Amino acid sequence: MERADLVALDKQYVWHPYTAMDEYIANTDPLVVVRAEGPYLHDADGTRYLDANGSWWVSTLGHRHPRLVRALTEQAGTFPHTSLAGVTHEPAARLAQELIALAPGAGREDVPAGERLSRVFYSDNGSTAVEVAIKMAAQYWAQNGRPRRTRFITLSGAFHGETIGSTSVGGVQLFRDIFGPLLFDVVHVPSPAEPEGWERAFARVEAALREHPDEIAAVILEPVIQGAAGMQVYAPGFVRAVREATRAVDTFLIADEVFTGLGRTGARFACDLAGVVPDLLCLAKALSGGLMPFAATLATERVFAGFGGGRERALYYGHSYCGNPLGAAVAREVLAVYRDEDVLGQVVRKAPKVKAAFERMAATIPGVKQPRAIGMVGAVDLGGGGYLARGGWRVYEAARRRGLYLRPLGDTVYVAPALNIPDAALDELLAGVEASLREVAAGRA
Ligand code: PMP
Repeated sequence: MERADLVALDKQYVWHPYTAMDEYIANTDPLVVVRAEGPYLHDADGTRYLDANGSWWVSTLGHRHPRLVRALTEQAGTFPHTSLAGVTHEPAARLAQELIALAPGAGREDVPAGERLSRVFYSDNGSTAVEVAIKMAAQYWAQNGRPRRTRFITLSGAFHGETIGSTSVGGVQLFRDIFGPLLFDVVHVPSPAEPEGWERAFARVEAALREHPDEIAAVILEPVIQGAAGMQVYAPGFVRAVREATRAVDTFLIADEVFTGLGRTGARFACDLAGVVPDLLCLAKALSGGLMPFAATLATERVFAGFGGGRERALYYGHSYCGNPLGAAVAREVLAVYRDEDVLGQVVRKAPKVKAAFERMAATIPGVKQPRAIGMVGAVDLGGGGYLARGGWRVYEAARRRGLYLRPLGDTVYVAPALNIPDAALDELLAGVEASLREVAAGRA
């Protein structure tokens, strides 16, 4: 099919996510991807684009990694799907074992047995991984003597997903206000990524825990970086302090590592940067490297034990695709590639280059500010316009003319590419971002 015909078909039938569709239909020439490999997307018009955000942060091993494709096709040729209802299979069982062996706190003698992450519950995507954690926490307290523990403490700027539950614990006003009447009540505290530091946020967490010890089911946070809020990086000390505060009143900490899990920050898990073991840990995105929608929620032995002792105490949760063998087989191969290709080592080696580039951009380009970076994420702000601002989109257009796909978060311009991006491609990416920012700053875009 001709490119133009495809775009026409798309504009007639497809409703795109987070997209003002009237504007899109009138003005946007979308990328029409026909092929992808490594860090690149290929358009039907023959243009090659560097994928600056790893296709919404999932393609951490690049597109079409041959080992992942093989794992997927081999599993598809064996049995592509079965439920986990009274059924098990090698990909689900072995992946769970492998995840637990790598989880925060694994092998640490100082972590008591009940506080070790020891069980894996599968679902389909980041939002459901969070939804599982919310329901696990709520049901745990309901059936273990604390039925009033139904409220969650959440941070301003938090993003935890698209479902009503995960939206309820979100802290980006724009994404939640419209659904306000449908959302459950939470305790909002300031973001730990405020310029003044995390102490104010922590004081509010501590106060909320102290004021409502009988009501708080869990504190939920994205450790070390709030992604969708504009790549807001904060110190691991906050995560550690929150862990201690939740312990002090014996309630749960949910770590949403949907974005950070498996190497994005340079550590295997962002919780490892803080030396923290959460009660529940949510994983998606990198877990299946962009080949399948697939997610996991890890729980401690204590949480798991709270669901024993009677049929009526089973966790009331389970999607049709729970533990899907294709996703599980790919995820096992993802973990194997991380090991064989030293992906974490690659991130640690390349991260200083990302950081230096964003610092240089902020220091030398007028109107470009707030450089921040961690692992394979770098970001700057233009103006302070937030998510609906247009500044980032002007940079997007300038970058596109240079063969970069650089979707912004409003006024935040950022990169979050494949973790194994080759050095030359990373240089090309950072130079392209810088040149695009300069072009916009000079008013030429
Ligand atoms: N949690 C975090 C931290 C995320 O960044 C995202 C997605 N950006 C989600 C949850 C939701 O994941 P998904 O889009 O796969 O539902």
